[in-house]
Amino acid sequence: MLELESVRVNYGHAVAIWDLSLSMARGELLVVVGPNSAGKTTLINAIAGVHPPSAGSVLFHGEEMRDLPAHRYCERGIALVPEGRKLFAGMSVRENLELGSYRRGARQARSESLEKVCALFPAVRDKLAQPAGTLSGGQQQMVAIGRALMAQPRLLLLDEPSLGLAPTVVLDMFRAIRAIHSQGIAVLLVEQNVSMALEVAQRAAVLEEGRIVAVGAPQELMARSELRRAYLGLE
Ligand code: ATP
Repeated sequence: MLELESVRVNYGHAVAIWDLSLSMARGELLVVVGPNSAGKTTLINAIAGVHPPSAGSVLFHGEEMRDLPAHRYCERGIALVPEGRKLFAGMSVRENLELGSYRRGARQARSESLEKVCALFPAVRDKLAQPAGTLSGGQQQMVAIGRALMAQPRLLLLDEPSLGLAPTVVLDMFRAIRAIHSQGIAVLLVEQNVSMALEVAQRAAVLEEGRIVAVGAPQELMARSELRRAYLGLE
């Protein structure tokens, strides 16, 4: 479904992702972990079209995405939940959610999608009329994920959704990620919360200094003591 081949991403002359190749199967849940500044956000933004690669190829269902403008990505079925949520604080929760469904196909299914989002996040249902900025951090994260789901994506990109949330809210978040995946949506999850991320992952990639240093089933990676200590923060 998603094929990255020799992808390189630059910020000016600095290279943040080095000739990275990675693939994802339809409906897969792939987790990317790695230390600070490894390039996780850069990678996810490259796949989302926010900051496209300077070299290499990003194929999505066989189509080269690299040269498409960012707004076309959503039409093709890729939706990003950016780090820090990026909601419109003064607009209502409903308006924020509806912004996710502006493309034609998704617009027609707007009420159905809104119902699905409210079923997934019951706390959001009671807050639809409130300005998004008045919600708790966890609720805002739910709205950010809900907004991406309103686009009816085939691939959902999540950048650190658990960042800054209380432990019980983090559990809810991971439960929701599992539920989204069980609906047949492929999920690429970037996370600092390694142990929980590896629990939900079907496959995981470890990124360091812009390169993938390991990829495999979570159990396989956790069995490698050098990875456990160096990258997974596990003893
Ligand atoms: P974190 O977990 O701390 O968010 P990350 O793994 O997501 O880190 P990135 O944010 O992708 O890492 O950063 C990768 C590298 O690219 C870092 O060295 C960072 O300083 C650099 N970088 C990121 N964004 C920019 C930018 N807009 N301009 C220049 N350099 C950048």
